[in-house]
Order: sequence, then structure tokens, then C-alpha cells
Amino acid sequence: MNLVCPDCLKPIEIIKACGCRDYFCNHCNQLVSKSRALDIDELSNYQEKEVDDKSTESAA
Ligand SMILES: [Zn+2]
Repeated sequence: MNLVCPDCLKPIEIIKACGCRDYFCNHCNQLVSKSRALDIDELSNYQEKEVDDKSTESAA
């Protein structure tokens, strides 16, 4: 699972500390709470549908 910053959509770093995880955006230079972090897999799945349509079109 890859998480991205909800503000800038850049990948965020996972910082493991004291048994819990924090997420840090190097771009915004701020911590991102887990509930706010976006799962990039969901975003790419959404985009893959459009790519799928195009590849089907060019194959046919
Ligand atoms: Zn950010």
C-alpha cells in the first residue's frame, strides 16, 4: 500500500516510531495523519480504467 499526501498528492514517508506509524510529507514538510493519507492504489485503479479503454481502442 502506497500512501500519498492529500494536499500535494506526493508520496509520503512512513516513519515508524514507538510502535506506531506516522506519515510525513517531504513536499509540504509536515506530518500527515493516517486518516488523511490517500491510498495511491485507489487513485491508480481509477486511472487504469481510462488507460484500459485507450489500450482496447488502439488494439482494435
Ligand atoms: Zn504534501
